[in-house]
Amino acid sequence: VNLPLYKESLYNFWVKIGDHSHLLYNGLTGAMIEVNDSEKQDLEVVFKEGYFRGSDEPFLKRLLGMGYLVGLEYDEVEKIIELKKHEIDSHKVLDIVISPTYKCNFRCTYCYVNFNDDEFAGSDTANILSFIENNIDSFKQINITWFGGEPLLCMNTIEFMTGEIETIRRRHHAKVLYFMTTNGFLLNSTTLERLVGLGIHYYHITIDGCKESHDKLRVTSERAGTYDIIIKNLITALDKYNNIFFTLRVNVNMETVEKVDDLLYFIPLRYRSRIQLNITPIIIEGKLIEKSLYRKINILLESAYQEGYQYYNQIIPLQRNAFCNADKKYNFQFGPNNQVYKCSPSCKPEVKVGVFNENKTIEFNDNYLKWQEAPLLNISCRLCKYLCFCFGGCKVNIVRGKMDVNCKRKYNDIEKLIYNKYITSNLPQNKVG
Ligand code: SF4
Ligand code: SF4
Repeated sequence: VNLPLYKESLYNFWVKIGDHSHLLYNGLTGAMIEVNDSEKQDLEVVFKEGYFRGSDEPFLKRLLGMGYLVGLEYDEVEKIIELKKHEIDSHKVLDIVISPTYKCNFRCTYCYVNFNDDEFAGSDTANILSFIENNIDSFKQINITWFGGEPLLCMNTIEFMTGEIETIRRRHHAKVLYFMTTNGFLLNSTTLERLVGLGIHYYHITIDGCKESHDKLRVTSERAGTYDIIIKNLITALDKYNNIFFTLRVNVNMETVEKVDDLLYFIPLRYRSRIQLNITPIIIEGKLIEKSLYRKINILLESAYQEGYQYYNQIIPLQRNAFCNADKKYNFQFGPNNQVYKCSPSCKPEVKVGVFNENKTIEFNDNYLKWQEAPLLNISCRLCKYLCFCFGGCKVNIVRGKMDVNCKRKYNDIEKLIYNKYITSNLPQNKVG
């Protein structure tokens, strides 16, 4: 009798990609192979029996190398925990989010940010610049994201601080990349020229479904619709500068998901390779999202990728072993009044972790301890087949000791998600960058 020597990975996923062809994807290593019916059968026997009949050593080694098969003693959950720990402590990239204000020129009907008028004072900018200067040598790269509220309401602060950060960067021969999350309304030609001049090349904007729904939900403080102006700004920007990139997030629900096509095809093909597309359900905390909505989104994404849009590396990520930037130990968000957060503070009091004191150092509070001491994963994540993609989900939930009701739903349509990942890795626009 042959005793098993190996076991199948917990994170193998089969996806049918043709009448007689199949994809085997490993969620932990990202390995992807295409096999025919009989090869699939052979592999299933190996996975079941845990050893190889005959002497196909090179093939077995390949399977082991790709992670489809692992040693009997190998603990993949522990491996994920180890990868996550490593990522949390990593000094590769320091991600800093700067919100010079939480006020906004929009009054999105669902938004929960409280619109106080606070903006950065001299002490805020001095503290953040000093934080950057003190940390810049310890990381290979710093990513600065301008966030809010609406950051473009504080254009002068952005201009001043970016100039100062550039001086620090040059002094330390460091690498700094700049990003901005904006509602896009104020991103007109004049402003964009100033921003590009500052070296800000990556923008994240959000559209709510189609024009009709967007104009109902995302209104200016005077209650006017904003869709046309945002789209015009987006297209003008892509036309004028070939070195800027967008992440376009489109929020959808069952009513709007089928109307998003209009937007996607309105944007000319030649710009789409510079747009990462993220279509996502509108999330209301504690409320279940229909599984069929995920299905519809995935179908929409498939055609969008075929039509030139870039893959957004979120639900099935590669080269990322934490759920979000807030997971990582050294990443912070800075807001007005010298406040230090782990994540955007709206509705999440536990993310407020400290405040800069007169010596420009952060005085951490009890929340910071909670954040540090929270386990890496909630217990039930250890048994979850999607742990290889998700790494335990939002840290705020872990700090609160509760599960997100929708966490597994994102992966409900896993075959299609993997299929979309597979087609994008074969499309020419995804070969670069
Ligand atoms: S999908 Fe949910 S249960 Fe699974 S790892 Fe993520 S947070 Fe945990
Ligand atoms: S809400 Fe959770 S998942 Fe989202 S950015 Fe904050 S910590 Fe990360």
